[in-house]
Amino acid sequence: MTSNNSRMKHPNLGRRAIVVGGSIGGLLAARVLSDFFDDVVVFEKDPPEESMEAPFKPRKSVPQGHHLHILLSGGEAVLSRLFPGIDRELVKRGAIKADFGRDIRWYLNSRWFPRFDSGLVVFLQSRPLLETVIRRRVARIANIRMAYGHRVCDYCFTPQSNMVDGVLLIDKFEGKTAHHADFIVDATGRGSLLPKWLEKKGYGAPKETLVGIDLAYSTTFFHRGTEPHTGAAMTACHPDPPNELRGGVAIAVEDDRWQVTLAGYHGDHPPTDENGFKEYAAGLPIPQIYEMIRPLKPVEPIRRYHFPASMRRHFERMSRLPDHIIAIGDAMCSLNPAFGQGITGCALEAALLHKELSCAAERRASLTGLARRYFKGAAKIIDEPWELSAGENFKYPATTGKRSLFLPLMQWYRDRILSSSDPAVIYQFYRVMHLMDSRYSFWSPRLMTRVLMSQPDSSAPTLEPVFDEALERFRT
Ligand SMILES: Cc1cc2nc3c(=O)[nH]c(=O)nc-3n(C[C@H](O)[C@H](O)[C@H](O)COP(=O)(O)OP(=O)(O)OC[C@H]3O[C@@H](n4cnc5c(N)ncnc54)[C@H](O)[C@@H]3O)c2cc1C
Repeated sequence: MTSNNSRMKHPNLGRRAIVVGGSIGGLLAARVLSDFFDDVVVFEKDPPEESMEAPFKPRKSVPQGHHLHILLSGGEAVLSRLFPGIDRELVKRGAIKADFGRDIRWYLNSRWFPRFDSGLVVFLQSRPLLETVIRRRVARIANIRMAYGHRVCDYCFTPQSNMVDGVLLIDKFEGKTAHHADFIVDATGRGSLLPKWLEKKGYGAPKETLVGIDLAYSTTFFHRGTEPHTGAAMTACHPDPPNELRGGVAIAVEDDRWQVTLAGYHGDHPPTDENGFKEYAAGLPIPQIYEMIRPLKPVEPIRRYHFPASMRRHFERMSRLPDHIIAIGDAMCSLNPAFGQGITGCALEAALLHKELSCAAERRASLTGLARRYFKGAAKIIDEPWELSAGENFKYPATTGKRSLFLPLMQWYRDRILSSSDPAVIYQFYRVMHLMDSRYSFWSPRLMTRVLMSQPDSSAPTLEPVFDEALERFRT
């Protein structure tokens, strides 16, 4: 820790930053802040991990940790910049490094995608392994202090200067204690403290957009033996809405295990007993996952996670915001995990925070206005996975939420992309899904020509239903 007399890294930014929440979003934020502040403290309400060795256990406050977590290329690229060599460390701990085009069998839109070398690297591992590797890299940074078992209950505020300047911790022995900070990141996940706090202080709560999908996941692990993988490190099957509700994914993970997640929309939820789990898998649109698990016994209890709705909070639309505080990760957007983009979203937001702090440091500017610039940029990052996910989910009539007027056209065009036989088109879809490129790249003249010229499957959609639906909307 830096002494009070030493020269500050960036006097204009301040000396101390606090991160509330020590999961993946909080850890990435802490890593970024360590480049700009002398002292970074992460307050995490959970106790420190018990085991220093595999198998790593999911934490109590991160129940999604029992379920499948893949790291997409967009996230891997940022993580490798923040923690050089982390890719090798993940593999050393047992993560499987795979090429998304070559090593993954993917069934989407009622067809298997072509397999080809894509150069898009993904990491397959249990969520606790990924989080533990990131946590240990963060713990090695001299000016970051991890404070476990510390629950933040409130933010400290100076109304005259419209800025947040600390946090209040609550402890059953010590009661409430205040901790000063020059900058604060709320990384407390979907149940974030920030919206209610903003409302309490008179800023109003950020508007929320919800897309209700009543989705539930059931997950367990099976031994896969030391055989590499039966032709694919991951087999994924998405349901084709509106008729199919069930999907499933099997990934090879550390300790020679398959992690298998089954998921169902709108009440068609997978059971948590072994027979029920296997029967449900037999009802997937493809037989491969059922055939893989049929002769195997689960080696962990089957866990359930209910995900009622995708949710995003529009901090960027607020007319007034306090300075010196931002949010990251699920605190801003908790998205249907079907495309595995949550951590990659956190990583891109961390990269944005780095850019904003670098600009302020270079210009020797204060932190005033940074929160608003950050939230505007973060909203653009979130728009990308949000559009893909909501676009797919709205194909179910039972999905709740506001459908845009252009939705049918977007869905029609995306279906044309997904049914294209041209690997260049599929490759571009992968880049967008991995948050490497913007969805606007689909509309470049070069790609549009390829999409519209390439031989689609015979099941490729026609435009008539799109026009009918749009006309119907005008009428109602
Ligand atoms: C079933 C499922 C599967 C998923 N699969 C994938 C996937 O394949 N790939 C992917 O990229 N993403 C996936 N995600 C998304 C991913 O889990 C999240 O996007 C990611 O964990 C967000 O991290 P976070 O740090 O923002 O929040 P969280 O992980 O929710 O962490 C919040 C942290 O804040 C702490 N905290 C909360 N309140 C306080 C407080 N008052 N004081 C101190 N600490 C506090 C909690 O203890 C916790 O550690 C999946 C999500 C689900 C639900």
